[in-house]
Amino acid sequence: MARQASGAAAPATGAGAPAAALFARLGIRREQDLVLHLPIRYEDETRIAPIASLRPGEVAQVQGVVARQEIVARPRRALAVELRDDTGSITLRFLHFYGSQLRQFAAGNRVRALGEVRGGLFGLEMVHPRYRVVDESEPLPQALTPVYPTVSGLGQARLRAAILRALRALQWRETVPADVLVALGLPSSAHALRAIHQPAPETPASALHERSTPAWRRVIFDELLAQQLSLQRARAARAAQRAPQLADDALARRLLDALPFRLTGAQQRVWLEVSGELAAAQPMNRLLQGDVGSGKTVIAALAAAQAIGSGWQAAIMAPTEILAEQHLRKVGPWLERIGVRVAWLSGSLKEAGKKAARARAASGEAQLLIGTHALIEDSVAFARLGLAIVDEQHRFGVAQRLALRTRLEAGPATLPHQLMMSATPIPRTLAMSYYADLDVSVIDELPPGRKPVLTKLVSDARRAEVMARVRAAAAAGRQAYWVCPLIEESEALDLQTAIDTHAALERELAPLRVGLVHGRLPAADKHAVMAQFAAGALQVLVATTVIEVGVDVPNATLMVIEHAERFGLAQLHQLRGRVGRGAGESVCVLMYRAPLSAAARDRLKTMYETSDGFEIARRDLILRGPGEFLGARQSGEALLRFADLERDSDLLAAAREVAARLLRDDPASVDEHLQRWFGGREEFLRA
Ligand code: ADP
Ligand code: MG
Repeated sequence: MARQASGAAAPATGAGAPAAALFARLGIRREQDLVLHLPIRYEDETRIAPIASLRPGEVAQVQGVVARQEIVARPRRALAVELRDDTGSITLRFLHFYGSQLRQFAAGNRVRALGEVRGGLFGLEMVHPRYRVVDESEPLPQALTPVYPTVSGLGQARLRAAILRALRALQWRETVPADVLVALGLPSSAHALRAIHQPAPETPASALHERSTPAWRRVIFDELLAQQLSLQRARAARAAQRAPQLADDALARRLLDALPFRLTGAQQRVWLEVSGELAAAQPMNRLLQGDVGSGKTVIAALAAAQAIGSGWQAAIMAPTEILAEQHLRKVGPWLERIGVRVAWLSGSLKEAGKKAARARAASGEAQLLIGTHALIEDSVAFARLGLAIVDEQHRFGVAQRLALRTRLEAGPATLPHQLMMSATPIPRTLAMSYYADLDVSVIDELPPGRKPVLTKLVSDARRAEVMARVRAAAAAGRQAYWVCPLIEESEALDLQTAIDTHAALERELAPLRVGLVHGRLPAADKHAVMAQFAAGALQVLVATTVIEVGVDVPNATLMVIEHAERFGLAQLHQLRGRVGRGAGESVCVLMYRAPLSAAARDRLKTMYETSDGFEIARRDLILRGPGEFLGARQSGEALLRFADLERDSDLLAAAREVAARLLRDDPASVDEHLQRWFGGREEFLRA
């Protein structure tokens, strides 16, 4: 195993260095990675269809003799080969072709071809079928043929041969206890891998494609097990580390007394959990979940106060400037009033300002640091960081979360406590998988006096009615947000749209005062506009999605989202959460442009039907998959390759239990299992 474990050895692919690079692009670096490179689908080459029986649209395999070949000029230059069997003939069409193909398709040659049948101008045809010259006695495969994900330059045949070679040499010790396999009805891993790469002839194609055969379920179980092992081991390692005991809650109690409101029952419960954990000698790693507007910020402020009251520093990090500034303006004064020294550090600060803030962090003079991810840059060193708070943590990419973790772990013998907050509830399946090394607290109650937001779906043909609604809200002394459409892939167009919309609304809504805020605005201007809106000096705020998270103006009771069909579910939910924060009746208008795609219709329907963040997150997960949910696209690293958390939730639950048992009883199997599945990639799963 030593050679395989080295990680750098190129697999024995039967080719030289360039091939190794191609394999590496598929994530295949070791011999054993080959057997875990699994098919994306299967093709049926077990049967040959009589040409006369073919119907346009079906994928079929035919075999016949070349009657003639011709290079045609129309409709495009192409090689057309007429293939005949006893029942009829079909044209194989190649839009690009080589001289060698002309020889392969010499008249009289016997050819087997597989592809999609199309109704062409002159009868049935296949465009670019997969084909082979065969002789009459060439046997048919007995089972479905696997098709692997690949890169250009690495053909299926070569990949398949390498995989089969590795599979024949495979000698994997079983890592999962036999009683578990029996209870779950799963085969051994070696058997499962063989059955996936070379399915038995009787295996139903639909089960293979749905990945619901026992073999597929075994592999999925192994992948989930690897993930659970990794997470649970990380959790155990953390529990073995020391953290400062932040046990003095006198300052936090002073803050509590000074707040203009009483904590809700849910906030009280969560605060007790957090406060107790801060006092312990193990580092906290807690996710605070609560729907938009549920009041997570005050818990962050209380936790910071307890850390600072115990003689340590605290940091609050937010994913955007706007959100970080909100904290500065809200949490800052709360804590300053009880004597805390607050510093601000963000990317938009001038170098001198950054330098000053870093100096205050390093000397320990600043007790609370608020800012963006500028807080975790290498140049920042804290004198005594006892608590790191990350707001809207899911908005940070995997890579950034990883950076935060390693930054903190690089510290001295003690680790700071970590409190993460998220308004996007993590569905249960995700909480059990990716987030398995976190403890989770939930604020499941909104502050008193909140009214549910009324959601309206309105076609943009009725824009005039929407404008009337904005005027009515302003006449009643209320304020409105107007969110501009997202324009995919173009920040410049985004910006232009926001500017145009602002100009149009200023004209149409005069004499109402209309403000504009967007991502490109300098921080100071952004701040000024937000402050004007918060003070009620602007009736309408035109915004791009920069207001998506955390903005808090209770008097704003109307939210209009233009081209709502272009937004994701999580975004819509966050945006809608900007209203319904005060005592007034609030309305969210989702303005869309017909015709809607099926997916857009689903999203809007979900928004209309429910305001429950958990339900929305669950549907979002189904619609988008966990990769995007977790921001994995930013890291470019696919996290779970085969498991589908919704479909495989039973296996996930089992994997969780088995992982705990293996970690306790069988460390050798744990190492072996992780080595097989992750090689060197393990850290990404813990981000
Ligand atoms: P989120 O959980 O979305 O971050 P915030 O912490 O911004 O929510 O809280 C939303 C609003 O509710 C803020 O204006 C906050 O001051 C207020 N708030 C929080 N807790 C309470 C409470 N217990 N009673 C009344 N208002 C509260
Ligand atoms: Mg918040």
